[in-house]
Amino acid sequence: MKVSNKQTNILITGAGLCGSLLGLRLAQRGYNVNVLEKRPDMRDKIIDAGRSINLALSDRGLNALKMVGLGDKVKDLCIPMKARMIHPKNGKVLTSNYSGREEDYINSISREDLNKLLLDKADEYDQVQIDFNDEVVSVDVKNGSIEYKDSESEEIQQWNPDILLGTDGAGSKVRQAMARQRDFYFSYSTKWLPHAYKELNMPPAANGGWRIDKHALHIWPRGGFMLIALPNRDGSFTMTLFMQFKEGERSFEKIQTENQILDFFKEEFPDVLAEIPDLVKQYQANPTPPLGTVRCSPWTAYGKVLMMGDASHAIVPFYGQGMNAGFEDVLVFDKILDECDTWEEAMKRFSVERKPDTDAIADLALDNFVEMRDSVSHPDFQIKRAIEMKLESAFAKAEYSSKYSLVTFPPEGMGYREAMMKGRAQDKAILWLINNGDIKVEDSAESLLKAINKKTAEVIWHRN
Ligand SMILES: Cc1cc2nc3c(=O)[nH]c(=O)nc-3n(C[C@H](O)[C@H](O)[C@H](O)COP(=O)(O)OP(=O)(O)OC[C@H]3O[C@@H](n4cnc5c(N)ncnc54)[C@H](O)[C@@H]3O)c2cc1C
Repeated sequence: MKVSNKQTNILITGAGLCGSLLGLRLAQRGYNVNVLEKRPDMRDKIIDAGRSINLALSDRGLNALKMVGLGDKVKDLCIPMKARMIHPKNGKVLTSNYSGREEDYINSISREDLNKLLLDKADEYDQVQIDFNDEVVSVDVKNGSIEYKDSESEEIQQWNPDILLGTDGAGSKVRQAMARQRDFYFSYSTKWLPHAYKELNMPPAANGGWRIDKHALHIWPRGGFMLIALPNRDGSFTMTLFMQFKEGERSFEKIQTENQILDFFKEEFPDVLAEIPDLVKQYQANPTPPLGTVRCSPWTAYGKVLMMGDASHAIVPFYGQGMNAGFEDVLVFDKILDECDTWEEAMKRFSVERKPDTDAIADLALDNFVEMRDSVSHPDFQIKRAIEMKLESAFAKAEYSSKYSLVTFPPEGMGYREAMMKGRAQDKAILWLINNGDIKVEDSAESLLKAINKKTAEVIWHRN
């Protein structure tokens, strides 16, 4: 099928964040697009968004939203978060900026608001039709066809599009069908963490404002577990407790009764306990979903089928990049479509070229769990961040960016893999220089940069 053929019929499974953006973009390119979504339309009905009520949106995701003309509109839905605010057990709150550059910050956004924004924008294009309450029940990857339960007739219907794009999330039916075929080797793994998460709501203050600083992502690091909070526009915060299911002294299995919950919060998060009047009720009612990393390959088959977003690379949420990576998938695929003659060629190129980047962010997200729940409260980490801030405020992006900035506020065109390779070498170099007493925060920005660049080059040389 030629990319230039605008009569191509495209079927997308799942109108979540990635599927809505993809459908919208392909309609903007002029293709005939249908999207099947198993849930009701969230614009008509209050539905359980499933998981993570709010998300951190950053530059990679924003770049994709700019591509579809939503760069300005999305800003109205965002609360900028310029820093991590760390709440240690001793009560002495620390603030650590995400970047030394004023213009670099992450944004808290409601999953529902963002999804609705994308659906509304898609509605502006006649070429895209989104059908809600229509669940894909089986996928035939060889034919690129699906069966779905039609919400009106309640009957199972077939659909055989020219191109089938699976954006049906971490439990993807398309991926399950890829794993079942026997024509080629499909490698696939889901690695679960021993940790799960539970969301809690910190309500607005009596005056309708925010009970804690609204321009920060709050973290209560406690070693093996942690609590975080992201602000919502209504004055509330969505808090997420990450803790082991079963193992260790602190686990969801061991903390269940009213007394256990109250004792746990009194001991570990007394400041939070004071701000959530119905904490026990929420804790007992809210689910405790697991956290895992999905990797698979290839993402495409038979020149007709391709997966994107969580369907092909679900990651743990500790870098705040799962959705951003899914949005960036759409941006990268859009560029590849410009450069390819056929859909088969474009889908193969995307599958091969994009995977090293999503593997990298999967690894970085796992590393960041240790950083967030543990390292952020260590003195060396704080010295390192102070040095990084100093360099970022003194130099342009191309001259110096920390690993966090390379990943989250990347210099133009830098993929996750390059950000990881460079950022890890820099981290190693800075920590080595601090431990060796070779650099101090008080040193001039020029001498810090020189020492760090030299040591980073050595680390890279040894690695190669
Ligand atoms: C606790 C938590 C916090 C997170 N925080 C962040 C963050 O701060 N920043 C960030 O970038 N990412 C974050 N993420 C990751 C982010 O949520 C995902 O990466 C993102 O939702 C992936 O989008 P998607 O469209 O690929 O999949 P999904 O959002 O899962 O959407 C899939 C869609 O497909 C539909 N669907 C599924 N099966 C079928 C079927 N059989 N038929 C029809 N439709 C179907 C679903 O109903 C859904 O609408 C977080 C994740 C979690 C769990």
